[in-house]
Amino acid sequence: MVQRLTLRRRLSYNTKSNRRRIVRTPGGRLVYQYVKKNKTVPKCGQCKEKLKGIRPTRPCERSRLSKRQKTVARTYGGVLCHSCLRERIVRAFLIEEQKIVKALKSQRELLVKPVKPVAEKKPAKAQASKSAGGKSAAKKPAQKSTGKSKK
Ligand SMILES: [Zn+2]
Repeated sequence: MVQRLTLRRRLSYNTKSNRRRIVRTPGGRLVYQYVKKNKTVPKCGQCKEKLKGIRPTRPCERSRLSKRQKTVARTYGGVLCHSCLRERIVRAFLIEEQKIVKALKSQRELLVKPVKPVAEKKPAKAQASKSAGGKSAAKKPAQKSTGKSKK
């Protein structure tokens, strides 16, 4: 007949926190040994990979640990892994660079744009100047020359 074992604590339900192992004592008896829940390591918020340099613990144990055992001394340390963080930094940098390039482009376009309408108006100008007079014709050539010199 199989030996029957008695629980060593009052909790008698087969719950997650009441898991046991059977162990033989030096005296030859069989006894229950209570098993703790699995310790976990935090994972990267982006790629879900286990973070390096952090001690696996239960939540209640974490309050007893020092900070250096729970996190990594880096921006987003303990939240993102190093490769995901690098990717984010590089991406942010490139986006900022793009913004600068766009701003430069729009500035250039602002300088260049006044030239194009003038060039298109050339034939119109000739007609307009004939009808209206020399005012408009005098202004536009000045703009043209500035635009060309800046190019
Ligand atoms: Zn990651």
